[in-house]
Amino acid sequence: MRTFTLTALLSVSLAIASFAQQPTTAANNRGRTCATEAYMAVQQAQDPGFRARREDLQRKVQQSLAQQGQGQPLQADVVVTIPVVFHVVYNDNSENISDAALLSQLEVLNADFRRLNADTLNTPDYFRSLAADTRIEFCLASVDPEGNLTTGITRTQTTSTFEYAFDNVKYSEKGGVAGWDRDQYLNIWVCNIKGEILGYASPPGARAGVDGVVLHYKAVGAQPANAFDTNYNMGRTATHEVGHWLGLGHVWGNGYSCSDSDGIDDTPNQLAENTGCNTGVKSSCDDSPFGDMYQNYMDYSDDACMNLFTKGQASYMQTMLATSRGNLLNSIACSGTLRSNFKTTSPIDTLAIAGNSIRFTDASVGLRPTTWLWEFEGGIPATSTEQHPVISYPRPGRYSVMLTITNGNHSSTEVKENLIHVTVSDLVVYPNPAPDFITLEQPARVLVRHVELINQTGQVLVSEETKDRVLRLDVRHLPQGIYILRIKSSNGTEVRKVSVLR
Ligand SMILES: [Zn+2]
Repeated sequence: MRTFTLTALLSVSLAIASFAQQPTTAANNRGRTCATEAYMAVQQAQDPGFRARREDLQRKVQQSLAQQGQGQPLQADVVVTIPVVFHVVYNDNSENISDAALLSQLEVLNADFRRLNADTLNTPDYFRSLAADTRIEFCLASVDPEGNLTTGITRTQTTSTFEYAFDNVKYSEKGGVAGWDRDQYLNIWVCNIKGEILGYASPPGARAGVDGVVLHYKAVGAQPANAFDTNYNMGRTATHEVGHWLGLGHVWGNGYSCSDSDGIDDTPNQLAENTGCNTGVKSSCDDSPFGDMYQNYMDYSDDACMNLFTKGQASYMQTMLATSRGNLLNSIACSGTLRSNFKTTSPIDTLAIAGNSIRFTDASVGLRPTTWLWEFEGGIPATSTEQHPVISYPRPGRYSVMLTITNGNHSSTEVKENLIHVTVSDLVVYPNPAPDFITLEQPARVLVRHVELINQTGQVLVSEETKDRVLRLDVRHLPQGIYILRIKSSNGTEVRKVSVLR
């Protein structure tokens, strides 16, 4: 339920920040224990730019939703897939959970986000029309950031202990594991989180180094792969935390009143969290005809008693994904293939002076290439098999570059048409003689500032200020004859003799 403007919403979230530093825990018998709100307060204290980045993203998402209409999917038929890497960080073997548990977790995420979960039947009739297929899927990474094949699972034994407030699980120097490139992977750390916290997530806007989800090892995957006898052994903690990671708040809003909100239109107004397993209509705020949606993944119900995201939550997550984590949608980390790409690193742009050299850098992603074949139109050499070749360009012009990379049976080609612009190496003035226009062209990075055309008696006939590398002068109004062209540029002053002849 959205009852507030965004500005009011933000001020509420600030007001409850101090409250949020005390996450509920299983130990105090309040059911599900998510530390995301408390973790955000920690981030806010440690990272001065966090709040502004987060609020900026929230504003952009709300603007985008206002244009498309809440509850409407961003692109109706598009299913997006997010590559996932699990980092299991353990003290003893009981915490080193099985591959089967992690694969089961991935299945639960896919089922819940696509509304293919077996317990959709438990969604009451009156909420069923609100339930959504989010069109977001998850796959296990098959290529690591260095281009090596991977199972998508890392395992690290450590003597460190972990709690959300310190976030040590994300730092190798603190006994954890550094996350992989967040533009290519959703990092999910699995460890023994102190305080019986089931999980926490970095919301959109968090720093790159801490981006991802952390799960308590006992809450990962579904039975039988999850062998722990708890109320959270169906893998729904990950569903809830990935919801936070994609920008969702708790369904009851930021505080504990009926006038706050989670910012989503189609979730009923709710006073506070619901824990355990409720049945029937339970109304905590009297403006919701069917009461609280305690079946929502973003409430605090037991795993067995939550079963839906709403359409409003789905479009919020899709829009947030496109807004704040758009690079992930181009990731090929699950494909086991490679994608050719390259850039110029010297000069940093693609403008060169004839006779100079350009350094090209392989910037391909995915599987690490084992061969490179470059083709340089207009370049010397015209081909190269180096990874980062240096090519000289003797003549002015615009030239294309092509790179084909391979690894085993996989290959990928990238062509960039007219990428390289090679300019003259010295000032040229043409044509000479000129019938109607005279063109002045300076080498790359030299700008003409002032041009004068002077006749043989010393009279200035044309005077132009400019800031271009190339200038075209109109001389159609001048009588035939010989003139002096005086050019002031960032290279100094130069003089050329030109003639107008028709
Ligand atoms: Zn939560």
